[in-house]
Amino acid sequence: MNLVAQQGVAAPGETLSQFYLTLLESFGPQGWWPARTRLEIILGAILTQNTAWRNATLALRNLRRGGLLVWPGLRRAPLKELERCVRPAGFYRQKARTIHDLADWLERAHSGSLNSLFSLHPTQSRRQLLSLKGIGPETADAILLYAGRHPLFVSDAYTRRILSRHQLIPARADYGFAQRFLHQHLLFDQAMFNEFHALLVETAKRYCRGPAARCEECPLRKFLPAQDQALSVPASMLPGRELAHANESA
Ligand code: SF4
Repeated sequence: MNLVAQQGVAAPGETLSQFYLTLLESFGPQGWWPARTRLEIILGAILTQNTAWRNATLALRNLRRGGLLVWPGLRRAPLKELERCVRPAGFYRQKARTIHDLADWLERAHSGSLNSLFSLHPTQSRRQLLSLKGIGPETADAILLYAGRHPLFVSDAYTRRILSRHQLIPARADYGFAQRFLHQHLLFDQAMFNEFHALLVETAKRYCRGPAARCEECPLRKFLPAQDQALSVPASMLPGRELAHANESA
């Protein structure tokens, strides 16, 4: 694809495909989600809310040591024990409550069976997850994508920042808008959604930071709108800056 096409002629789907292939070639497969079981993915998705992944892993380690990363242990875990384990992930009372309520709900609604939950149509399982306090769209979609293997793109703050800085979505586009855009222009492919999201997160962490985008080193630089290609672009000159903080350290 030539530069003219990048500057506005290319269809969004073609541009997104080029993003994906370029990032995959640059970074390689990311191996997400880093977990041993589906239950661990689910708990990790809750624990990483508003905190760095390394803090979530400390909480997961505590849960593993306490025998709470397996269903029989988690189902019987007292709230206080959960609070103690998840403390390193921050917001520990809230996160412990969310995990406790999730376990209680999973037992009542699905007899503790993740197969039962994930065998539902994703629209239905998503609605059920969203009815639980502490689980928003990003967490629900991460659970459904990585644990349930359903094709739902996790259009988190990192993803929205990159898409808006490349003028594919408005700077203030919210989670739902960005997800609809991605679903509209990508093939529904769970494995690709899995990898693409992980690659976008890696791009944001390495180069597309909130305070200062390091475009001159970034593999996606060639896809920047023409006026932004000449130099490393200060975040203040790019759209999407206001979205940068939401999951900054996640
Ligand atoms: S760092 Fe620059 S080139 Fe890379 S994704 Fe962000 S805006 Fe695009």
